[in-house]
Amino acid sequence: MFAVLTTLIIIWIVMWGFFKFMYPRPPKSMMPKKGDVTTPRNCDYCGHSLAEYRGVLESPPDAASTQTDVPALFFCNYEHQAEFHQARGTTPPKRPEPPTAPPSTNAS
Ligand SMILES: [Zn+2]
Repeated sequence: MFAVLTTLIIIWIVMWGFFKFMYPRPPKSMMPKKGDVTTPRNCDYCGHSLAEYRGVLESPPDAASTQTDVPALFFCNYEHQAEFHQARGTTPPKRPEPPTAPPSTNAS
């Protein structure tokens, strides 16, 4: 009986360690901060569902002046935004500079 319990406890500890190794906690920078909109939205290019603060929100250029009922475009990332506008023949709005620009080592 004691051997069964010991084996179960050892298996539980090993499985707990394996779970912690396989599913590590995401870094703090990926977590939503205060004020971030966490509503899931679908990308207008590929349809992927993503929280709004993780993607690129593009408001229509004349929404502020004329009408506000035009829905804002939403994309997973800037690549999907660029391909969306390329397919439509329009030019995407100027991309804002990221706060910490990574060095561009993968120049093709
Ligand atoms: Zn997308």
